[in-house]
Amino acid sequence: MNTDLIIIGAGPGGYRAAEYAARQGLQVVIVERSEVGGTCLNRGCIPTKAYVHSATLSEAVERRDRIVAQLRAGVEQLLSAPGITLLRGSARLAGPNRVELEDGTAIEASHIIIATGSRARMIRAEGIDTDPRVLTSTGLLELSELPHRLCIVGAGVIGMEMAGAFRRFGSEVTVVEYLKECLPMLDSDVAKRLRKLMERQGIRFQMKTAVTSVTDIDADAILVATGRRPCTEGLGLETAGIALNAAGAIPVDDNMLAAPGIYAIGDVNGRQLLAHAAEMQGLHAVNHILGREDNIRLDVMPSAIFTTPEAACVGPGEDQLKADGIDYRCRKAFWRANGKALAMDETEGLLKLFTGENGCLLGCHAFGAHSADIVQEVSTLICMGATLDQLRGMVHIHPTLSEVLTQAAWQE
Ligand code: FAD
Repeated sequence: MNTDLIIIGAGPGGYRAAEYAARQGLQVVIVERSEVGGTCLNRGCIPTKAYVHSATLSEAVERRDRIVAQLRAGVEQLLSAPGITLLRGSARLAGPNRVELEDGTAIEASHIIIATGSRARMIRAEGIDTDPRVLTSTGLLELSELPHRLCIVGAGVIGMEMAGAFRRFGSEVTVVEYLKECLPMLDSDVAKRLRKLMERQGIRFQMKTAVTSVTDIDADAILVATGRRPCTEGLGLETAGIALNAAGAIPVDDNMLAAPGIYAIGDVNGRQLLAHAAEMQGLHAVNHILGREDNIRLDVMPSAIFTTPEAACVGPGEDQLKADGIDYRCRKAFWRANGKALAMDETEGLLKLFTGENGCLLGCHAFGAHSADIVQEVSTLICMGATLDQLRGMVHIHPTLSEVLTQAAWQE
C-alpha cells in the first residue's frame, strides 16, 4: 500500500494530525493498536476529569464510561472521513519510508509521523513489581471499590489530581513526595498554598521522603505517579537511523523532525507531556510536510492541574525567573478579594502575574476556582506580545473571576 502520510498512534497528537492532513488533501493511513483517542481520552485527561467532578467513585465510574464512549465514537467518526484509512494493529518502522504491521501489512509513504505516546514510569523500590497493591493511574481508574487507605507516591499532576478526587470519595489519602514541594512546574509559593489547602481537605503529605520499599507502606492501594516514559519499544527506530535521547524520548527539531521524512509528536518526543501540546505539534508537523509556515507558538505552553480548586500556569514562575537571573516584577491578587469568588463561596486562591522589561508579560501562575481560564487569557496576551499597560487597559466583565487579573495588573 502506498500513501502520502502514515501516522502511528491515534491519540490526540495522531488523530488531530490525521484529520488536518486529510482536510489539506493528503492521503493518510493511521495505525492504532488499542482504542482510538489514546491515553488522553481513554486513560488520562478525560476519565480523570470525570473523577475530579464526581462526588463518589461509583458516580465517577458511570460518568467516565459514558463520556469516554461518547468521545471515542466522535474520534472514530472523525477518522472515517475521506482521505483517512484507520488500520488496527501494532506498527513498526521497516526503513525510512516503510511501516509494517504484525499481520504483515506493509505501507510506504514519503512522510511518517510517530505519535505513540507514553506510559507510566515506575520507581525502583522493593516490592514494586510484586506487591498487588501497587497501581499506575490506569490501574487506579479500573478500581470499582474504594480503597480505604490510598498512598500516592509522587506529588506531580496525576498524583495531586487523584489525591483530591479519592479524598472526596472518602479514602484516607497520603501523598509521599521526594521533593520539597509538590507540582514542580508551578511557582513554589502557589504550589505550597495549594498543598496546605489540600491538607485542610484531609490529605496527608510526606514531603522530602524517598520511597525505597512499598512493602512497609500502610495502605490498601498504592498509586505510583512518578512520571511517564515514551513508548518506543519495538518501533524499529534503528531502521530509520533514529537514536533515543537520555530521557528515552525521540529527539526532534523545532519542526518535530526526527529524521528526514520522519516526525515524532506528542509524549513520545518528551517535550511537553500535554494533550494540547501533542495536538499543536501534530498540526505544526503537517504544515511542515505541506511546506507551509505557521504561527503555532509551542514556546508558550499553558497547563493546568485539576485539583479542587484547580491550578494553572504559563511562562516561568518566580523560582525560575530568579534562577535565570531575569529582572522581573511580581503582582499578586487573591480570590478572597473578588466579588464573584465570594458569591460562589470559592475564596481560596492566589494569582501571581510576572512582567519583565518594559512591562512585557512573562508569565502567570495561579490556583483558585477557574484559574485555568484566567491563565489562558494571559497565555493569549503573551502570544500577542502584550504589555502590562495594555492589560490594564482591557475591561473585564463585573462580576467575574477574571477581575482577579485586573486586580493584579493594577497593583503598583
Ligand atoms: P497518546 O495519547 O498516549 O496516544 C498514543 C497512541 O499510540 C495510543 O493510543 C497507543 O495505543 C498508540 N500506539 C503506541 N504504540 C503503537 C504502535 N507501535 N502501533 C500502533 N499504535 C501505537 N494532558 C493534558 O493536557 N491535560 C490533562 O488533564 C491530562 N491529564 C492526564 C491524566 C493522566 C492520568 C494521564 C496518564 C495523562 C494526562 N495527560 C493530560 C497527558 C495526556 O494524556 C498526554 O499528553 C496525551 O495523551 C499525549 O498524546 P499523544 O498523542 O502523544 O499520545
